[in-house]
Amino acid sequence: MSKKSMKNYRENTVIAHAGRNPPENHGVVNPPVYHASTITFPTMSAFETRDQPPYEGAQYGRSGTPTQFAFEQAVSALHGAHKSVSYPSGLAAIAATFCTLVKHGDHVLIADTVYGPTRSRVCGVIMKKMGVEVEFYDAQIGADIKDLLRPNTVLVFMESPGSLTFEVQDVPAITGALKGTGVFSLIDNTWASGYFYKPISHGVDFVIEAATKYTVGHSDAMLGTVTVNTEEHFQMLKGIANTYGYHAGPDDCYLGQRGLRTIGVRLEQHQKNALEVATWLESRDEVARVMYPALPSNPGHEIWKRDFSGASGLFGVELVEAPKAAVEAMMDGYALFGIGASWGGYESLTQSCYPGKLRTARPWDGKGPTVRYHIGLEDPSDLIDELSGGFDRFNAARK
Ligand SMILES: *Cc1c(COP(=O)(O)O)cnc(C)c1O
Repeated sequence: MSKKSMKNYRENTVIAHAGRNPPENHGVVNPPVYHASTITFPTMSAFETRDQPPYEGAQYGRSGTPTQFAFEQAVSALHGAHKSVSYPSGLAAIAATFCTLVKHGDHVLIADTVYGPTRSRVCGVIMKKMGVEVEFYDAQIGADIKDLLRPNTVLVFMESPGSLTFEVQDVPAITGALKGTGVFSLIDNTWASGYFYKPISHGVDFVIEAATKYTVGHSDAMLGTVTVNTEEHFQMLKGIANTYGYHAGPDDCYLGQRGLRTIGVRLEQHQKNALEVATWLESRDEVARVMYPALPSNPGHEIWKRDFSGASGLFGVELVEAPKAAVEAMMDGYALFGIGASWGGYESLTQSCYPGKLRTARPWDGKGPTVRYHIGLEDPSDLIDELSGGFDRFNAARK
């Protein structure tokens, strides 16, 4: 179905139909998986003009086939945006967007609470090597971001809520402050996905998501997307994506568009389960705080309520002070919660984390060990039983 006709429908209808075109595909419901390197052209002249803006249609396998385009169209429709570009991972999408916008001598402003590899790899390695000045700002800065702008500032990078500690940023205050300055706004929107938050509607220029997480939704593919609302921004991204040779594989894009069909029902259930588990955790003596914007106790709760339409299944927990061995006893005995990185699949996951090592603008004030939970689609009562058993082990090892 064409993008234009999607604008007349409500969200869950868009999710079910965007990017699909059965009449053009023998009536088959899902878009086909095109594996391609070579694309052939009807004439010499068509061949000679293939790799040029406006980058429409298939030119060479590396720059995408109808499989990538179907996925990108579906993501973009969910955001109510102009276009999306797919990348082989979320981190690739972040690195590519930076490399699209910056040059040697530029200055960039990065939220202190960004995903670890955004800080350590994209900023710490690539930006450093390029001679770009990186400044981390307090995620709660709001409109005061204006005071940090310099003549050579090119972009402000946000992530809301932040990784590990889940601070909610005042996105409209930041984009409002940037209006007319020519400074680009970027956001990592992986936590909420386009289903629970649409940053384009708050004036963000580049909306980046690790589609690896909730879009794919089944822990079985790596994929990233960048969504924009102008053709100019799309051309900038696509030109650089083609230059670096960024290519999201057709099978992974297929899984991405397939995952997207159920993102609405999955995220509503993740939210319901996570709220039940987080509320229970908050009542426990072993817990110092639960970092989940959907809880009224959280400092970012009001902004979250104003800007987001829901909360996903990922949150942080600061435990009361305890030796590492107590946390290990608690986590190692879990059966349902896998211990691992990534999240956003249907299953529950946990990992230990150390936000103190990753904050510079506003030092982390937590004292106890920090654990992150992703609440999956299991029965939340079983998850609570398991967490309860974990606290028994935690307490026994603490004595
Ligand atoms: C996982 C994650 C990424 C990176 O995505 P990959 O697909 O794993 O490269 C980026 N940002 C956030 C917030 C993430 O959680």
